[in-house]
Amino acid sequence: MVLADLGKRINNAVNSALSNSQDDYTTTVDVMLKNIVTALLESDVNIKLVFSLRNNIRATLLESKSRSVNSAQTKKLIQKTVFDELCHLVDGETQPFLPKKRKQNVIMFVGLQGSGKTTSCTKLAVYYSKRGFKTGLVCADTFRAGAFDQLKQNAIKARIPFYGSYTETNPVRVAQEGVAKFKKEKFEVIIVDTSGRHRQEEELFQEMVEISQVVKPNQTIMVLDASIGQAAEQQSNAFKESSDFGAIILTKMDGHAKGGGAISAVAATKTPIIFIGTGEHVHDFEKFSPKSFVSKLLGIGDIESLLEHFQTVSNKEDTKATMENIQQGKFTLLDFQKQMQTIMKMGPLSNIANMIPGMGNMLNQVSEEETTKRMKKMVFVMDSMTKQELESDGRVFIDQPSRIVRVARGSGTSALEVEMILMQQQMMARMAQSTKGGQRGPGGMPGMP
Ligand code: GDP
Repeated sequence: MVLADLGKRINNAVNSALSNSQDDYTTTVDVMLKNIVTALLESDVNIKLVFSLRNNIRATLLESKSRSVNSAQTKKLIQKTVFDELCHLVDGETQPFLPKKRKQNVIMFVGLQGSGKTTSCTKLAVYYSKRGFKTGLVCADTFRAGAFDQLKQNAIKARIPFYGSYTETNPVRVAQEGVAKFKKEKFEVIIVDTSGRHRQEEELFQEMVEISQVVKPNQTIMVLDASIGQAAEQQSNAFKESSDFGAIILTKMDGHAKGGGAISAVAATKTPIIFIGTGEHVHDFEKFSPKSFVSKLLGIGDIESLLEHFQTVSNKEDTKATMENIQQGKFTLLDFQKQMQTIMKMGPLSNIANMIPGMGNMLNQVSEEETTKRMKKMVFVMDSMTKQELESDGRVFIDQPSRIVRVARGSGTSALEVEMILMQQQMMARMAQSTKGGQRGPGGMPGMP
């Protein structure tokens, strides 16, 4: 079962519990938990974690019931408890290392061949470079023919300085020289790609240890292919023993992988997942946070990831203006339009749609082509609005319904379609309101069931 289905099933379980007025409270909770547990197990989520989740939710709900006085409070309690426990399920708990500005941060990548290591190195380099870090890439993979060419091509395309050698066969030396060169040139983030092997073998681990000794990484990141499901736990444990990595990047979360399996397995190793790869394109890379992941899983949308993502792909000025608005609790139609335009320039739209509150569910049932078409329409609609309307909070349309009709006519859409966009923007504006001052949590989940 892919993650979208899992999210839907959990939502359904919670929704039927919320609308059930026939059974007593304990029975309602137990039926809901049975459905959630079945859905999680069928998604390959780690069994120990699933049962611990069930017990925690049950204990919290039964214990707190007496404190919630009316059914609205009970509903909120059920939503919040399920949300919190799902976050807990995928949370590695320890905090990962974060590079510091004006310092020299060396990050070393390890992982099996084919896991997506080289691709993820470039993605991470782009991520930090976009955030103002002077970033360089070192290719210390001398094992696989063509590895340097691949990194070089990726780096050139992404305009990231790189270092590697066609003649030197000793990966330790290449790593050492590359890091020394970038350090001398005052690079702030230096990412070292190492060789992979098809299997976990002695030679690979030995090489990793040697490279690590010379480059002295501030952080070692292991790259794991999410499609291996629960085997992720065993693989990360094996790597952990020889290269004490402090963080994980899970790749190929876009496929039909049982991503829930990999995430929960990794969470069981108490190592934080810091990013997930959601495609082959350099921007198909999302910062992983349990809250964002669960929000997307449940189709609530996640404005924080959306902003993170936009920092990587969009025009700095536009993002800054939107960020300022959101910090003030505002989200105008213009913010919405700029974001949509950026989205249109990017890779698979369904990845992005899932971050927008309410949109994931709306577009889940349709093809990628249809998603693109619908999103384009949204941009056309906003193109037909006046500057004042765009800079407004959208409520001007409530006072002037005739404008809705005009905008619909101007953009070749229907009044209903315009209204849908306004609703969407209002939902985002409410989220912005709840994000104001750094508040989050259940207040920031307006779309929840
Ligand atoms: P390495 O051997 O570990 O360095 O792996 P590569 O970076 O060469 O990646 C192996 C293959 O996986 C390539 O075809 C990549 O384009 C692909 N790949 C890497 N990350 C992702 C991802 O997040 N999603 C998808 N769909 N493919 C990916």
